[in-house]
Amino acid sequence: MIRLLLKPGRDESVRRRHPWLFSGAIASAEGDGSDGLAEVADAAGRVLAHGAYSPGSQIVARLWTFDGRLPGDELFRERFHAARRLREEVLPPETTGYRAVNSEGDACPGVLLDVYGETAVLELLTEGIEAWGAALESAAREAFAPGELIVKRSGGERDRARSRPSPRPSPGGRGGLEEGRRAPFLENGLRFVADVGAGQKTGFFLDQRENRSRLRALARGRGVLNLFSYSGAFSIAALAGGAVRAVDVDSSAAALELAREHRAANGFAAEDRDFVEADVFEDVRRRAAAGERWDVVVCDPPAFAKKRADVDRAARGYKDVNRVAMGLVAPGGWLLTCSCSGLVDPDLFQKIVFAASLDAGVPFSISARQGAGADHPVSLDCPEGEYLKGFWLRRA
Ligand code: SAH
Repeated sequence: MIRLLLKPGRDESVRRRHPWLFSGAIASAEGDGSDGLAEVADAAGRVLAHGAYSPGSQIVARLWTFDGRLPGDELFRERFHAARRLREEVLPPETTGYRAVNSEGDACPGVLLDVYGETAVLELLTEGIEAWGAALESAAREAFAPGELIVKRSGGERDRARSRPSPRPSPGGRGGLEEGRRAPFLENGLRFVADVGAGQKTGFFLDQRENRSRLRALARGRGVLNLFSYSGAFSIAALAGGAVRAVDVDSSAAALELAREHRAANGFAAEDRDFVEADVFEDVRRRAAAGERWDVVVCDPPAFAKKRADVDRAARGYKDVNRVAMGLVAPGGWLLTCSCSGLVDPDLFQKIVFAASLDAGVPFSISARQGAGADHPVSLDCPEGEYLKGFWLRRA
């Protein structure tokens, strides 16, 4: 265990139970942190917290306890069981794919566990958490009893890159995982497979379940353009709700291949023209030039801002794609526009979308704001965990 002594006056956030300890707050360190365990003490030497130590990261420790308890087997089991009980209360029926442990939101900073039917994927997001891998793995097996447990170690790499951690990591390290490894599961009775080997995130975007169900509820008789579609899950929800057509646009051929499989698995036709491999920024311009109009447009891009320095550029990207997408929405139609950049807060995102609507010359009103579902809890101690914003915009 390594002991981290804080600079005088730098203990405020730890006292407020914020789980991220930044390297700039550390005055000195003593001991050996190779077991991943850090003890945090104030300038007077009073112990305040314990957590996972990541020397290569700006967030040098993720704090797990503030009461003197040491993180270890028993604590991991307790927290995973508490996480399981929450899911038992909040998941919709016929849903076997869900976020089982949501990092800070389940008091397990740096740990994600996604369940896809019989398969669970444990993602260790920091170097310190990787050091606890074996104990976390057995806690996951005990609490969730998956048929198979896959472990993704994306932490060390991310920490060394010194970027801000995101609870919605983009393409994970392949780390020796078998490509094409599929895990079937249900979401609100619809059939999906997560690409748990080489896919993005842990293989599926579970955080959009609530938005998919809203889309399903309003899709009857409508045409849907699904931008940044990944494996086309929004389109499946729309078709299940009676949409007449859904078109997936993504730059990843592998994602579109999965999207075709999803159509077949749910009994929908898969016509070539409904799967478009393209850069969305170009694709929407072509559609605008051709005068296309859609009843529903879904725009769910990857996180454009991964670090603070990216925010301005990200804002321009969101504004650009939204401006063109808005012009594609038929009067009385919908735009579901999303941002999963934690650094772009809801206020800023709303301003960006407003600016896009002004430039497009098309007025919209916000009918609903919908983020991730209840299996993605956010700790009050760490509001940064709330990263996904989805605005349901209705064209006048
Ligand atoms: N809406 C999806 C998740 C989208 S993730 C779902 O519910 O499952 C973002 C997707 O955007 C990824 O599939 C990625 O391949 C794609 N992407 C990233 N940049 C792109 C671009 N410029 N043009 C097209 N697709 C892009």
